[in-house]
Amino acid sequence: MLRFNLNYFFCKAFFLLSLLIAYPVHAAEVVVYSARIEQLIKPMFDAFTKETGIKVKYTTDNEGALLARLEAEGKNTPADMLITADAGNLWAAAQAKLLKPVKSEVLENNIPAHLRDPQNEWFGLSIRARTLIYNTQKVKPSELSTYEDLADPKWNKRLCLRSSKKVYNQSLVAMMIAEHGEAEAEKIVKGWVANLATDPLSDDTRALEFVASGKCDVTLVNTYYYGRLMKKDPDLPLAVFWPNQNSGGVHVNISGAGVTRYSRNEHAAVRLLEFLSSDKAQNLFADVNMEYPVNPKIEVDPFVAAWGSFKQNPMNLVKAGELQTTAVKLMDRAGYR
Ligand code: FE
Repeated sequence: MLRFNLNYFFCKAFFLLSLLIAYPVHAAEVVVYSARIEQLIKPMFDAFTKETGIKVKYTTDNEGALLARLEAEGKNTPADMLITADAGNLWAAAQAKLLKPVKSEVLENNIPAHLRDPQNEWFGLSIRARTLIYNTQKVKPSELSTYEDLADPKWNKRLCLRSSKKVYNQSLVAMMIAEHGEAEAEKIVKGWVANLATDPLSDDTRALEFVASGKCDVTLVNTYYYGRLMKKDPDLPLAVFWPNQNSGGVHVNISGAGVTRYSRNEHAAVRLLEFLSSDKAQNLFADVNMEYPVNPKIEVDPFVAAWGSFKQNPMNLVKAGELQTTAVKLMDRAGYR
């Protein structure tokens, strides 16, 4: 009996071995195009490879270049996944038919509905809060209340804003259009422009530096820029204010990802996406850039948590994409450069 079993075992083993020689198994691999820079993505790819054995190859570039490349490569693209910041960019990728829907209970459980595409083509992986930062020597927090209030004449020559060319404020204005309608949103943006202390600035960090040096009193930025600056110089007279806590909530956006339409390793790509939304990777994804995890079960990095908790706007971020063109035109009409 034993002899028979051993024979059977060797036969089976030989058969499997010959199959392996005839059909070499390709090691599983996922190719990622990422607008997030290498230092923000490599740690979690390494963790994924360690857990699953699936290798991750990646290329980083800005989102415009990556979208153009995906479009040009079409069906021949080697990419399985696109990672980029801002729902506006992910929406544009979905519109250009560069992504494919993913049905996954893991993703549905880990990511709140407003932070993912209703058609399941893209998924938020970290939250970026766009909030008010003020000069603590010039503004009392009790003077601040909402994004809309920054249009009030009491802020005349006290407001700094980043250029309207960057998607961040385009998404914020798009969400205001969704909330208030176009006419009301335009009034608010015109009020902001009337209150500007300087021409719109090149980036969020510059806006913060202007507030810190007293050239203006308040600005609107993503909190991780504030975090970076305060880590360098903790004595800057800057503080976070969470607006709209009695109304719609803080405008949040995402960094996120989707599986490419012509992915050849869809199964592995979905596994990577699920891994990135899991408790094992959520802190790696969010903390490294001082963002917030999308998965509500995960604790926020202590340095970030010290800025306080806030109510976020629960409107689906797909609106940031759908209303992006309307927002850009509105900002132009309002004289917001
Ligand atoms: Fe940024």
